[in-house]
Amino acid sequence: MLIAGNWKMNTDLPAAVALAEAVVKEVGDPGDVQVAVCPPFVSLAAVHEVVDGSPVRLGAQNMHFEEQGAYTGEVSAAMLTSVGCTYVILGHSERRQYFGETDALVNQKVKQARRHGLVPIICIGETLDQREAGEAEAVVRTQVAGALEGIDVEDPSTLVLAYEPVWAIGTGRTATPEQAQAMHAFIRGLLRERYGEATAAAIHVLYGGSMKPGNAAELLAQADVDGGLIGGASLKAADFAAIVRAA
Ligand code: PEP
Repeated sequence: MLIAGNWKMNTDLPAAVALAEAVVKEVGDPGDVQVAVCPPFVSLAAVHEVVDGSPVRLGAQNMHFEEQGAYTGEVSAAMLTSVGCTYVILGHSERRQYFGETDALVNQKVKQARRHGLVPIICIGETLDQREAGEAEAVVRTQVAGALEGIDVEDPSTLVLAYEPVWAIGTGRTATPEQAQAMHAFIRGLLRERYGEATAAAIHVLYGGSMKPGNAAELLAQADVDGGLIGGASLKAADFAAIVRAA
C-alpha cells in the first residue's frame, strides 16, 4: 500500500513545514504502508529536512521533461532529486484540464522521471460526461497506453498509477468501492497485457477522489486498490494519518 498526499497549490513555506511536522508525528510508524507527501515546489527542500529520517517520503506535483535549459518557470527531474524527492505526480487531471497536458506529454515526463530514478505517480481517469457516455474504460485505456508507450518495467516499484475519476476530485463525491474496484481491475488487466502477471500484480494502483477517513477503509479493502492519492484530506495531518492507518 502507498498513501500519498497531494497538497496542490496550498501551504506557504511555514505552513508546509508545520504540516510536514504534524504528518510525521501523526503517522508515526506506518508499518508496511508507504507514505509520501507532495508539497509545492518552493517547500520541497524544507519539507525534506522535516521528513528525512522518518518513514515519510517526498514527492513533487509536476516536472518538465527536458534535462535543463531555456524553459522559464519549469523544474527538472534532477532538481527534484537534488532536494530529496522520491516520487513525482504526473498527468494530474488538473494539469490536463488547466494546462493542456496530453498523454504524449505525460509519456515524455514519465520517461524523464524514470531516467532520474524518480517514481512517477501517473494520474488517469475519466470525466463525468465520459462516464455517463459509457466511455470510461476507453478513456482510461487510451491514457494508460499513451502514458506508458515505450516504457519497460522490470521493477514494479518504479511506477505507480493513480485512478482518479475527475468527477470525484475535490467534489466530495467518491466512487463507490464497487466502481473503484471495477476500474482498478480493468487497469490491472491493461498492466498484465503489457508487463505480465507478476509485474502487473505488484505495481501500485492508487485510488484518488475525495478519499477521507470515513470512506478510506472500504475503498482500500478492494482487491485491486493498492493505496490512495489524497488531495483535500492530506492538508489535515490527523485525517491523512487516519487514512494511513486504514491502509
Ligand atoms: C487529487 O487531486 O489528487 C485528489 C484526489 O483530490 P481530493 O482528494 O481532494 O479529491
